[in-house]
Amino acid sequence: MLRPRKAVLKVKEYHPPLGGRQGLRLDFNENTAGCSPRVLARLGALGLETLAKYPERESVERAVAGFLRLAPAQVLLTNGVDEAIHLLCQTYIEPGDELLIPVPTYSMYEIYAAAAGAEIVGVPAGEDFRFPAEALLRQITPRTRLIAVATPNNPTGSVAGESVLLKLAEAAPDAALLVDEAYFEFHQKTVMPRIGSIPNLFVARTFSKAFGLAGLRAGVLAGCAEQMNLVRRVGSPYSVNAVALACVQEAIADTAHIDGYVTQVRRGRERVQSVLRELGIKFWPSEANFVLFLIGEQRLAFVEAMRRRGILVRDRNSDPGCAGCVRITIGTDAQTDVAIAALREVIGELSGANAPLVVTRTSLG
Ligand code: PMP
Repeated sequence: MLRPRKAVLKVKEYHPPLGGRQGLRLDFNENTAGCSPRVLARLGALGLETLAKYPERESVERAVAGFLRLAPAQVLLTNGVDEAIHLLCQTYIEPGDELLIPVPTYSMYEIYAAAAGAEIVGVPAGEDFRFPAEALLRQITPRTRLIAVATPNNPTGSVAGESVLLKLAEAAPDAALLVDEAYFEFHQKTVMPRIGSIPNLFVARTFSKAFGLAGLRAGVLAGCAEQMNLVRRVGSPYSVNAVALACVQEAIADTAHIDGYVTQVRRGRERVQSVLRELGIKFWPSEANFVLFLIGEQRLAFVEAMRRRGILVRDRNSDPGCAGCVRITIGTDAQTDVAIAALREVIGELSGANAPLVVTRTSLG
């Protein structure tokens, strides 16, 4: 009988929706307004040649390296950050090695690392989902080969500062430290300038969020040139397709478009947080383009009532420490108006129902 590797049987299934997301998409932290018009123009002008040829990434990789103020040898374009995570696992993890992550966090670290045979060492976030720096440092062992830190983190929106990240890199010289800056544009703090001087540091960025290109699948992995040479060995030369390459080049040239969108998201984030505060709903202050808040036992009714109003939000109940939590993505000013009106209505409606809406975290266990 055909059997998979043992590690495969240990991989958790991850079931993001792969269809049917109609309405205002405030469930997956994508850009809700769309990419730069320059990208659309480039798409419209693509010719047969672009599709007939294998993708030519070199010039785009050079442009992206320049955009990030890095050398081309320090930069690899990837099929989203997801591929960057996968490549790091393939490059550094032997069966029985350890992936060290704070939890809750983005699911794919665990999935790719488990598929490579890693043991998953999850360190619960501190009070109010603060980055558990000391606890992570204590969990480093000679088998720790990958440490993955999303900052801002998903689904909490909390961040890890540069000094603790550098401390981690220093304390685990035999591990790759991946700093996942998928939400960088909404926070604007980065460790990218350290690339090149810290040999085990990698930074990932994506075109899926602020840039509005989640459907194209394009991301960036940056690291020191020696390590990136090894990472390149395990990847496909063509994982970023020619259409994505053409679009990425336009996207990085239109920073004004991104700046305008990010300004609206940051403004919307403050507005949503102040409405939640006013309504007595517990939330966790976020540096990303989403906010996590606590609804409690009525979370499914909440998600459904928002859906009836045409707004998709994400139930995060099953993430560790997130019982009763829901996450909402922040979009443009106009979308935030719509989202806030619906939030007020739905919370008013549910507060009138029998079960209490506002519950404390401790009451959820
Ligand atoms: N990292 C984090 C922290 C994320 O939240 C996500 C998407 N939800 C990703 C990476 C995936 O990014 P990409 O679309 O570039 O694969």
